[in-house]
Amino acid sequence: MRAVVVGPEGEPAVAEVPEPDGPGDLLRVVACGLCGSDVEKLDAAHAGAVLGHEVVAELDDGRRVALVHHASCGECERCLAGHESTCERFAAPTIRPGGLAELVRAQAWVEVPAGWPDWRGTMVEPLACVLRGAARVPAGRVLIVGNGFIGRLFGLVLERRGHDVFAVDTDPRRAGRRPDGPVDAVVLAGRGGVETALACVKPGGTVVVFAEAGVIPAGEVYRRELTIVGTRSAAPPYMSEAVALLHDLDVPEPAVLLLERFAEGLELHRRRDALKVVFTL
Ligand SMILES: [Zn+2]
Ligand SMILES: [Zn+2]
Repeated sequence: MRAVVVGPEGEPAVAEVPEPDGPGDLLRVVACGLCGSDVEKLDAAHAGAVLGHEVVAELDDGRRVALVHHASCGECERCLAGHESTCERFAAPTIRPGGLAELVRAQAWVEVPAGWPDWRGTMVEPLACVLRGAARVPAGRVLIVGNGFIGRLFGLVLERRGHDVFAVDTDPRRAGRRPDGPVDAVVLAGRGGVETALACVKPGGTVVVFAEAGVIPAGEVYRRELTIVGTRSAAPPYMSEAVALLHDLDVPEPAVLLLERFAEGLELHRRRDALKVVFTL
């Protein structure tokens, strides 16, 4: 089958690979989104890997499903405390070899409506991550730092929940509504932005860390009594919530390309010419 494989130096290429075996059902992939975290793995350390975790696949009976790429146990102390992505079982991927392939083995999924365009179901996973993160954002004025695709999803979800949402980005093409004063909370939704976050958050405010944003100085946290909250990835209940919400969420439409045009899609992502790139098969 065809798949996008990371090469020895980290360069990706569409190549023939064996069909995946192991646990789970064999499903035909319909579409897979390209995530910033996939692009970060294009290095020698990930040589041979097939990336992609924002996957829509088709079951034998024609139903379409969004795949769960890591599954927490739901029973351990950390799961019960709401830190599912730190569950020991969460480390093992549940999609093989990865979503940027014709076929995958998968163990868990949520059904998506038949009438959706191919790309829409690929947004279930990122939206699920955002819904889980949004639950940690206190009510009030919120600044999103990093207004790419994830930042936009945060904005849509938080606005719907009644927050007053502002957004900034180092790329002027992605600028949002600039904050007109201090905010109660900041969401770090991309690399960098810690300085902006600390400059804008009120004393006693909250900084929600959703990305490898860099170093947060402890002195500032201490003197201004800030709350720092980390949140990463999704958990199965948020996948179902994301399907329900995506019905009428005005998400930005992605650039959609055939998997054969992976190199072109990667360039669109790297040049930041597309907010989101989705590959179809
Ligand atoms: Zn992702
Ligand atoms: Zn657990």
